[in-house]
Amino acid sequence: MKKITKSEIRAVVDESYEKFKDEVGGKNADYIPFLAGVDSSLFGIAIALPDGDIIEKGDTSYVFGIESISKVPTAILAMEHYSAQEVMQKIGADATGLPFNSIMAILLENDHPSTPLVNSGAISAASMIKPVGDSDAKWRAITGFMAELCGSELVLLEKLYESESETNYNNRSIAWLLKNYDRIYDNPDLALDLYTRGCSLGVTARQLAIAGATVACRGVNPTTKKQVFKAENTTKVISLISTVGFYEHTGDWMYESGIPAKTGVGGGIMGIVPSGATPGGFGIAAFSPPLDSSGNSVRAQSSIKYIAQRLGINLFDSQEIVIEK
Ligand code: GLN
Repeated sequence: MKKITKSEIRAVVDESYEKFKDEVGGKNADYIPFLAGVDSSLFGIAIALPDGDIIEKGDTSYVFGIESISKVPTAILAMEHYSAQEVMQKIGADATGLPFNSIMAILLENDHPSTPLVNSGAISAASMIKPVGDSDAKWRAITGFMAELCGSELVLLEKLYESESETNYNNRSIAWLLKNYDRIYDNPDLALDLYTRGCSLGVTARQLAIAGATVACRGVNPTTKKQVFKAENTTKVISLISTVGFYEHTGDWMYESGIPAKTGVGGGIMGIVPSGATPGGFGIAAFSPPLDSSGNSVRAQSSIKYIAQRLGINLFDSQEIVIEK
């Protein structure tokens, strides 16, 4: 069993911040024009602990675009509205090994969009959210659930939403291609718009850490103490994150960090340290806009990896198993 003190965590977070705050490399996403204009020097790290305490450093209250990290709450909500099994049947749970917006991935596996954590599967998951056909009510369900997961409301970044809606031609193709394969369970344009709006929600590193901790704590938000999703869906969502959280670089990430994490092109990363790996489990998030070639924040990756190594946390290493006679 692993024991870590809060002061150790605090010291390692501070160290990591100092070590990587001047790291250069990567560049802001520019295929969504709004994101190109965000200050590249922003950097924050936050950890949410199972008792609700937050350890944070840097720009942890800066509101940035959640982008693909929104795929996680939508996937959980689809499991809640149907079941983990039905999400598996309707969407799948397989890594594509290809970029997040790949059309090729859909063509290669035309019997399902692979996983709710790439664009195709996320648009499909948005189409599943109930009540089908009612865009406003679906939006309320998604944003309501995200607020419960993060412990506070997320606000729509209108300018980001506009910017993304005006330029999302690739995602429009995905929505209609999925319709062709009967993998859209509502109107394709409605599902695409919900997906785009979900990506355009503003979030802070602090909120992401709380959302990560809620997943780590089997659906109980450690700051509000509320059970916000069924405990039984925890292993399912963590398995999705572990297999495709970094798209085509997920294997490299898991090999180097040992922390299941989900990235977004807004520069955020939400990591989950499940309770199997440390008592209670916790959430770890970092944010900085410059990205590597597959759309993952450079400074956020470096800092989370460093913290995991210094604390000796690794999903594949830390479970205590006692085999009794
Ligand atoms: N909204 C973005 C897109 O669909 C999200 C991509 C991401 O964060 N990887 O392209």
